[in-house]
Amino acid sequence: MDCSRCGRNAILELKYFKERLCARCFTDLFERRVKKVIRAGRLLGKSDVIVVGLSGCRDSAVLLHIFKKIFFKAPKSRLVAVTLDDNLAGRVAFTKDYCRKFGVEHHVYKAGRDLWKTLGEKARVLKADKIALGVNLDDEVENALFSIFSGEKPEDSKPKVIKPLRECLGEEIGKYAKLNKINFIKAGKKKSEFRKSIAGMLDEIELKQPGCKFKLLKSVDKYIEALD
Ligand SMILES: [Zn+2]
Repeated sequence: MDCSRCGRNAILELKYFKERLCARCFTDLFERRVKKVIRAGRLLGKSDVIVVGLSGCRDSAVLLHIFKKIFFKAPKSRLVAVTLDDNLAGRVAFTKDYCRKFGVEHHVYKAGRDLWKTLGEKARVLKADKIALGVNLDDEVENALFSIFSGEKPEDSKPKVIKPLRECLGEEIGKYAKLNKINFIKAGKKKSEFRKSIAGMLDEIELKQPGCKFKLLKSVDKYIEALD
């Protein structure tokens, strides 16, 4: 199986593009996609203080990795990782070590009952211009459908929050982490039965109609824009 772009040995198939890619072309495509989301949404300013919510789980670890790759181009920016300690064994030790290796400023705070509220408060203390979260495409469409099925308006991003991985499937983030030897901790997300059935339905449709999660995200974005 040869890479559709360069002829090297392909390691995966992107069904929605009908392409097979080698490790290098996939890594390149993945990083370009994240950069495009950042550029198109004007997510980063030249001298922003960016607080990255670092749980240590896969998506947040990949997000910090990519930020480090991008940030040397914006020397006036400040990158700060924040971990909320919820007593999960290994979380604090892992994230401390991870940031030390990357040379990223890191702060650990006790998690409050409302994680989002605590992160927002700490980001204010750190004078953050942006709060970056490792939210992926699967999360985005699941959240949107959850709101719609609950009779609510799909939630727009909170002020200052940026989600550079929102166009990346979780599966592809996993592939990128593996290829780039990015370590992370594994902690399952607690989900209601309702949420699980929405996620299952979306996975099933994506399997039959590759690319549908991305298209759904674009439709939801348009819908939110029209409502505003
Ligand atoms: Zn290739």
